[in-house]
Amino acid sequence: MARSILNEFSELFFPRLCVCCENRLVTYEEHICSSCLSDLPKTKHLANPYNKLEDFFAGRFPFKRIASFAFFIKEGSIQKIIHEFKYRDNPLLASYMGNLCGKEILKYNALEDIDMIVPVPLHPKRLRKRGYNQSLLLAEGISQLIKKPVNGGNLIRKINNPSQTKNSRFERWKNTKGIFEVIDKSIFEGRHILLVDDVITTGSTLETCSKLILESENAVISIFTLGSAI
Ligand SMILES: [Zn+2]
Repeated sequence: MARSILNEFSELFFPRLCVCCENRLVTYEEHICSSCLSDLPKTKHLANPYNKLEDFFAGRFPFKRIASFAFFIKEGSIQKIIHEFKYRDNPLLASYMGNLCGKEILKYNALEDIDMIVPVPLHPKRLRKRGYNQSLLLAEGISQLIKKPVNGGNLIRKINNPSQTKNSRFERWKNTKGIFEVIDKSIFEGRHILLVDDVITTGSTLETCSKLILESENAVISIFTLGSAI
């Protein structure tokens, strides 16, 4: 009782707002209001074995499945959500979105033979600045639902790459070469790895990480991201 009075009191001064539409959340809502939640532009990639993303990556490296939770549209809800957990110190939102991704994966009975979930790593310098790796939180959120372990320490980022937004796709890919490293290849040997990132824009980071992981003997790669700009 005392607890709920305290909650109501704090709600009065610090109302919880939906990260997408900024309307006030009701008690049972978390981070995103029910209306924005049901309006998320889900890709339904996992329902389709030859989806648009898989078509996009075909021929660049071997993979099993590639899918995103929802489309990343300029000024859209996924962009707002990613901005919120990347730049506004909201790690709980990243974990929450990871859970939503996990539910989506379970819904389609997809990726059942995954052995290990690996987040795209942050450079230690950026990690210190942000305080958390949002891709690791997404991976852990997925892990809670699909019950597969996360390995966040074997794929590392050696170089903190500068913003690449103005470069061509080839230059971006060239830029991402050499910035990642697999510490112990044997950990990925014979494993089906689910590589997790927040958003696919050009795919160059995911391509580079996948190729590195595939240097481990008999490793198999699948990719899942929260957003897709493709
Ligand atoms: Zn909303």
